Amino acid sequence: MTLAHIAGYPRIGANRELKAATEAYWRGETDLEALEATGRALRERHWVAQREAGLDLVTVGDFAFYDQVLDVSVLLGAVPGRFAADDEVARGEVSLDTAFRMARGRAPTGTPAAACEMTKYFDTNYHYLVPELHAGQTFRLASSRLFDQVAEARAAGHPVKVTLLGPLTWLWLAKARDEELDRLSLLEAVVAVYGEVLTRLAEQGVEWVQLDEPALVQDLPREWQQAYEAAYSVLGRVPVKLLLATCFGGLGENLNLAVNLPVEGLHIDAVRAPEQLEAVLDRLPGYKVLSVGAIDGRNIWRADLALLRERLASARMRLGKRLWLAPSCSLLHVPVDLAAETELDPELRSWLAFARQKLDEVVTLAHLLDGRATAQDRERVEAATQALQARRDSVRIHRPAVAERLARVSAADTERASPYPVRAKAQRRGLGLPRFPTTTIGSFPQTAEIRAARRAVKAGELGPEAYEARMREEIAHAVARQEALGLDMLVHGEAERNDMVEYFGERLEGYAFTRYGWVQSYGSRCVKPPVIFGDVSRPGPMTVRWSEYAQSLTERPMKGMLTGPVTMLQWSFVRDDQPRETTCRQIALALRDEVRDLEAAGIRAIQIDEPALREGLPLRSGEWQAYLDWAVACFRLSAAVARDETQIHTHMCYSEFNDIIAAIAALDADVITIETSRSDMELLEAFQDFAYPNEIGPGVYDIHSPNIPEVDWMVQLMEKAAERIPPERLWVNPDCGLKTRGWAEVEPALANMVEAARVLRRRH
Ligand code: GLN
Ligand code: ZN
Repeated sequence: MTLAHIAGYPRIGANRELKAATEAYWRGETDLEALEATGRALRERHWVAQREAGLDLVTVGDFAFYDQVLDVSVLLGAVPGRFAADDEVARGEVSLDTAFRMARGRAPTGTPAAACEMTKYFDTNYHYLVPELHAGQTFRLASSRLFDQVAEARAAGHPVKVTLLGPLTWLWLAKARDEELDRLSLLEAVVAVYGEVLTRLAEQGVEWVQLDEPALVQDLPREWQQAYEAAYSVLGRVPVKLLLATCFGGLGENLNLAVNLPVEGLHIDAVRAPEQLEAVLDRLPGYKVLSVGAIDGRNIWRADLALLRERLASARMRLGKRLWLAPSCSLLHVPVDLAAETELDPELRSWLAFARQKLDEVVTLAHLLDGRATAQDRERVEAATQALQARRDSVRIHRPAVAERLARVSAADTERASPYPVRAKAQRRGLGLPRFPTTTIGSFPQTAEIRAARRAVKAGELGPEAYEARMREEIAHAVARQEALGLDMLVHGEAERNDMVEYFGERLEGYAFTRYGWVQSYGSRCVKPPVIFGDVSRPGPMTVRWSEYAQSLTERPMKGMLTGPVTMLQWSFVRDDQPRETTCRQIALALRDEVRDLEAAGIRAIQIDEPALREGLPLRSGEWQAYLDWAVACFRLSAAVARDETQIHTHMCYSEFNDIIAAIAALDADVITIETSRSDMELLEAFQDFAYPNEIGPGVYDIHSPNIPEVDWMVQLMEKAAERIPPERLWVNPDCGLKTRGWAEVEPALANMVEAARVLRRRH
């Protein structure tokens, strides 16, 4: 019989119970006992869901109060010295508060310290805490949480499979804080602790342990490939069966390596890389189990069960009982339960499957392949087939006008009328800006009052006109503040925007919004990505009246503010029935119309934010160029409609520009504002080396910090910038939007920034 399982389940809870519980604990409103109780209740509920769905194993080890990578660091005793509570790190069990301090810098107990770095997990929007390695690093088994959870599940009578991030991927994700330190030199010590962990699990009666090694779908240096062999030859000796799990892509040149490691099973992603299934089947040793990740764990579309049955029939024949079925990856990346979406349009809802529904899909597919489908399974297949047929034919998805317009797009549509030097002259005349012009990235503080007004609208307590008037007041306030501060290019402040993607998605056709479709982003933070289900088009202007109003309040140029096509795509659940590129082009065309309308309304500068450009990079460097080509083309398609006199800005905020500097230049934005303040302007090296031709506003202060930046300090940073970029092409601005700050911080910080620009003008 085909075994049905999952790589992991979302832990936040259908109502984000985990968020509420951890935040209450952090605020000191509840105690540890209450928090642990919530954790236990959520785990049990999720195991029961897996059993009720008919999975053969429940997965233990996917729960974490903050982050599963952090939990492995704690398990291995890899706790940086600054978090050491007395001798906890040397000997005892590492406490939950220590883990929280690693994650957030503080916890109800213990001394605050600088939190560990956080970054995106592979190509997902989930952020993990980067394991930190120091010279003289040692490891020891420092937590019994995993074993407690196994005991918990067994006591409840569940058949347990444990999941744990594998040693190589943990090290791959780690950063050595001392340059000399070679991560792989620590492998033996790490593997020794993993050996202990596996032995303990075996003693607890665990039969299968899934070791997640998604690093195997990336380009691995030779030493790392060899390290896999070394590590797994040791771990393979522990008397527990190991399922080596990969996801997010194909194994590529690591396929032989992965297939031949001395473990009992392999899990592959057959959604992202369906083509690898045949190759794996041909090479898989006869004693191994193959877990096929057939249901999409990264997206929310209902599976075509009938089609999957056909596609997997030969795998079933060849593998017999050695076939396992699962979603492609942990369900951490999709919302919990579609059943909660009672207000979603029923037709659209019938096209979707969230985590809970995906459990059913896995089970039914296993039954189908075994030829033991129940009446319920047959109903499910029938319902899926019908829904998907309806989706293929739906007029809500296919808007012929969108496709026709896309077909008419030519290369000329992605070219501004004139090259940058010509545009720059026209813009200089029209905008009348001084040297070192000052500006901000777009948002001003999203105050409690603004958010309360939005809630009141939702609750029906505030009418649309009253809301509009409230937002206009906010805009007028922001404009007046900026004029008083002496900023050169103003923004309206984005008071009316709940979120930079949602705001636009709500004004476009082809987008839908769920009510409870939360996905964990990091720690207790969840996001609710919009769903792009159909052809995207713009029924009417989205931002024009706000920008126009803001411009009417001032003589100074007011920047229009848009979210770019790649970011709109990247931060949504995207339809899977056409290439992402096509969807992105549709969004680009909608934004193009907005650019044109803003311009017609008298807006002389328009910023098209693309903070997600870099995170869209594929996991394999060989695929980067193809992605960057269409991503850049989409940005240009939105922007190139602008006349020479209209200044196009863009903004990006992440710290590694080196890989994509050519693509950034290819955007051909007149001005780019970027995050650089934390790296002391070193980032500009990439721009200097590339001889970046257009204007740059390197962020002069870190908006994530409440500290007020000093004038001298910002002047010095800009002097460094001026060594790399000609001063006439430099702007002065913070490194990101100010929405998370309060006015009490924003005003003095910007006053100093404006003063710094004045000093610079006197000097240059
Ligand atoms: N314009 C946006 C803001 O200022 C940009 C946000 C971002 O970079 N993520 O908030
Ligand atoms: Zn930013």
